[in-house]
Amino acid sequence: MKKILLLGSTGSIGVNTLNVIRVFKDLFSVTALAVNSNISLLEEQINEFHPECVVVKDEAAADELRKRINGKTEVLSGSKGLIEAAKRCDYDIFVGAMVGFCGLAPAIEAIRKGARIALANKETLVVAGRLVTELCKKHNAELIPIDSEHSAIFQCLEGENKNAIGKIILTASGGPFLYKDKNSLENVTVEEALNHPNWKMGSKITIDSASMMNKGLEVIEAYWLFGYPTEKIEIVIHPQSIIHSMVELVDGSIKALLSSPDMKLPIQYALSYPERLQSCFVTTKLPLIKNLTFFEPDFDKFECLKLAFEVLQSGGTAPCILNAANEIAVDKFLKKEIKFTAIPQIIKKSLDKIENHKTPDLEMIFECDRQTREFASSLN
Ligand code: MG
Repeated sequence: MKKILLLGSTGSIGVNTLNVIRVFKDLFSVTALAVNSNISLLEEQINEFHPECVVVKDEAAADELRKRINGKTEVLSGSKGLIEAAKRCDYDIFVGAMVGFCGLAPAIEAIRKGARIALANKETLVVAGRLVTELCKKHNAELIPIDSEHSAIFQCLEGENKNAIGKIILTASGGPFLYKDKNSLENVTVEEALNHPNWKMGSKITIDSASMMNKGLEVIEAYWLFGYPTEKIEIVIHPQSIIHSMVELVDGSIKALLSSPDMKLPIQYALSYPERLQSCFVTTKLPLIKNLTFFEPDFDKFECLKLAFEVLQSGGTAPCILNAANEIAVDKFLKKEIKFTAIPQIIKKSLDKIENHKTPDLEMIFECDRQTREFASSLN
């Protein structure tokens, strides 16, 4: 029986992780659950999965939950609670499915314990890729991706020698604005941006998909996960989202991983790896899909994509600045305070303003994140 700590249990990855655990009750149990503020769903999850402890990031919501469940399980709160749970609870697998920078500190604690890190929170690797991968080596913590593209690459790389790899090809759906021209992006609405063609996800990642920042963050994530230089990482637009990513070998062969889009598949693999478990979550009927199409991304239209490659080249805390400025800008866009096209502008201004520390430690990364948020918040 593998014990699981699940960070972000009420989000789309979290709910799907529990869907997987529910089917494989004999193999996996829940030690701890953590959420931002959705205590109604968390309460249902407590009753079904009986975790030893839960964390609610929002303090007021944590108090309310304590009243409601009356000592049935321990309730920790705040960012400190997230770290404490990761430090103190007994678990084998840490599922990092919280959105944004707040996933980093608890992931570090889990790595120090030598747990398997099943990672959906791409920001952890974007802002602190070097530190996280070095710590994983030091503590023998396995890092297994949940992000569908990275899970596909991880699976395509299995059995191949490092020098046999020519290219890593990340596929991108292109999001809701794939066929819009650059000028019309200025006036797109929040509702249009939230209307993703293939995936049902939380609002932050859906906006990131519309701006293609999601793919940019995934390029940085792939860089740290797999250890290939930027020149070997490529993006291909594939609107059907059936091929989840590919690996091109030096002889010209291309390995691809295909299935209907369903996050339960990469989640299940991250939990069961290296075993495969029989399940019936996904059936892929290729004759119904008919066409798979591919084309090159438009870096001119999707500036966020270009910025992500640039910060990866700059290194240091540049990816942390990009990430923090993007989180603030996306939040402003969702609140209808800025236009969609202001998102890359806020990121650019932040990159110009905030100093890039070339070899940051964890403290410097936290400070860079804080400074960038403060600065980006003042922009519009
Ligand atoms: Mg992805």
